[in-house]
Amino acid sequence: MQVLRSMALAGGLVSLQLTGLAQKFQFTVSMPQPATHYFHVDLQCSDIKGETTEFKMPVWTPGYYQRLDFAKNVEGFTVKNAKGDTLVWEKSGHNGWQIRHGKQSSFTVSYNVKTTRLFVANPYVDEERAFIRPTGVFVYPAGKLDLPATVVVKPSNGWRNVATGLDSVRGKPFTYTASNFDVLFDSPILVGNLEELPAFTIKGIPHRFIGYKMGDFDKQGFMDDLKKLITVGTDIIGDIPYKHYTFMSISPNGMGGIEQLNSTSVSFSGQSIEKPESRRRVLNFLAHEYFHHYNVKRIRPVELGPFDYDNGNHTNLLWVSEGLTVYYEYFLVKRAGLSSEADLLNYFKGNISAYEKGVGKQYQSLQQASFNTWSDGPFGRKDDKVNKTISYYDKGPAIGMLFDFAIRHQTQNKKSLDDVMRTLYRKYYQGLKRGFTEAELQEVIIQTAGAPLDELFDYIYTTKEVDYNKYLAYAGLSIDLAGEKPTYTISRMANPDALQQQILKSWLGE
Ligand SMILES: [Zn+2]
Repeated sequence: MQVLRSMALAGGLVSLQLTGLAQKFQFTVSMPQPATHYFHVDLQCSDIKGETTEFKMPVWTPGYYQRLDFAKNVEGFTVKNAKGDTLVWEKSGHNGWQIRHGKQSSFTVSYNVKTTRLFVANPYVDEERAFIRPTGVFVYPAGKLDLPATVVVKPSNGWRNVATGLDSVRGKPFTYTASNFDVLFDSPILVGNLEELPAFTIKGIPHRFIGYKMGDFDKQGFMDDLKKLITVGTDIIGDIPYKHYTFMSISPNGMGGIEQLNSTSVSFSGQSIEKPESRRRVLNFLAHEYFHHYNVKRIRPVELGPFDYDNGNHTNLLWVSEGLTVYYEYFLVKRAGLSSEADLLNYFKGNISAYEKGVGKQYQSLQQASFNTWSDGPFGRKDDKVNKTISYYDKGPAIGMLFDFAIRHQTQNKKSLDDVMRTLYRKYYQGLKRGFTEAELQEVIIQTAGAPLDELFDYIYTTKEVDYNKYLAYAGLSIDLAGEKPTYTISRMANPDALQQQILKSWLGE
C-alpha cells in the first residue's frame, strides 16, 4: 500500500510537469478608445497540449452572488495560429469557446469586451479610468484553473498608473503574474491617473489606498482613522494573512464594494466624509469590505470554494459571511473610538426594525435567505407584490448580536463571538485549509458557549418570532417593542447587575 501510494504520487508529479506547468497563458489587455467602453484582449497561448482547448468566461464575480453572464459582452472572438492563419472555434455552451488547434501548440485568442455599467462587480472603461474586473475580462482554460497566467496592461488616454493586488514582473512595465486563475480572478486592476493617500503599516505590513478624483480633504486624518479600525480588526482575529493590502477606489460616486484576499474595490470620495454621520457610514462601509478578507475570503463556508465560475456557489451561510461582517463593521469602528454607543445601538435599531417591519419574516428563514440570494437578489425581493423574503444584512447582524450576548452570558463574559470567529479562522482556514460546514459552525458556537443555544439556532432555521429582550438583558439592554408602532429603540436598563455591566462594557470595547 505504502509503495503504491508513493509511486502514484511520483507519477502524478511527473505528469503535472509534462502536461501542466509548461502551458503558458499571457493576456495583453488594452483600451485603445476608452470612450467606446471597449477592452481589447489578446491571449497568447503557448506549449498547449492536446488538439482542442476550451476557454470559458465566468458567469459571476465571487463576492457578488448574482449571475452577470459576462460572456454576452464578448465580441469579435478570433483565434490565429503562429503564422497568422485563422483557426476554427465553436461556442460550447453559453459561456464557452471550443478551439480546434490540432497539433499547433501556440496560438492567439483575441476578443473585445463591451462594458456598459460602472459597478464594482463589472469591468468598465471610459475616458476617466479603466477598471478591469478580471471575471468579466479574462477567459480561462476549462478544467485548468490551477495553471498560472501573465497579464500585460497597456494603458492609453495618457494614463500613468496601474493599481492591482497582482505581483508585478520585475523589469517589465505593467506586467503581472498570477499563480493560478483563482488568484487572477481575485485581483482587479485599476488604470488611470491615480492618486495614493498616505499609506500606513500595521506590524510592518503596508496598507494602501489608491483611487482617482478623491477630492480635497484631510487625507492624513482619514488614513489615521482607517488604520485604527483595521488595527481593531486584526486584533480580533490575531493574524494578518497578507503581505500587502490595497483599498482601490474605482469611482468617486456610489458605495458598492467587493472584497478580495488582499484588496477591496470600492467607491470613495473625500466629499462623502465631510459630515460626521456620513464619515461614520463610510468608515463602516470600508470596515465591512476590509473585514471580509477574514470573514468570507478565509473564514468561509465550505461551499464557497473552490469557486464554480460556471454556476455560482450556493450556501446556507451568507448570514455568517455577510450578516456577521455587518456586525463586525460596527465593532471595528466603535472599538476604534470612531463611533459612539448611541451610534452602535442605532445601527442595530435600524437592522431590527427593517427586519421586523417586513412581511417576509413570516415566510423566509435566515438560512433560506442565504441560499436563495441568487434568485432573490442580495437584499431580498423588494418589488414583488407578495414580499416573501428577508435580508440577511438586517437579520444577520441582529442574530449575531444575540449570539454574542448569549455566549458572554453563558461564559461569565470570558468568551464572545470573537472567540467563535478566531476558532473558525484557526481551525478551518489555518489548520484544515478549507471552509467549515453548517454542523461545524454550530459545534464551534456550542463549544464556545458551553451551552446548546437551541433557541438561537431556531432563529436561523425557522421564522420563529425573535425574543430580543431576553438576550439584550444579558448586557443590561432592552429594546422598545411595545404598542402598535414600536420604536425599536435600544437603551440601557436601570440598575444592571455586575455581570450585565461587565458584558456591556466589554461588548462596547470600553
Ligand atoms: Zn459584504
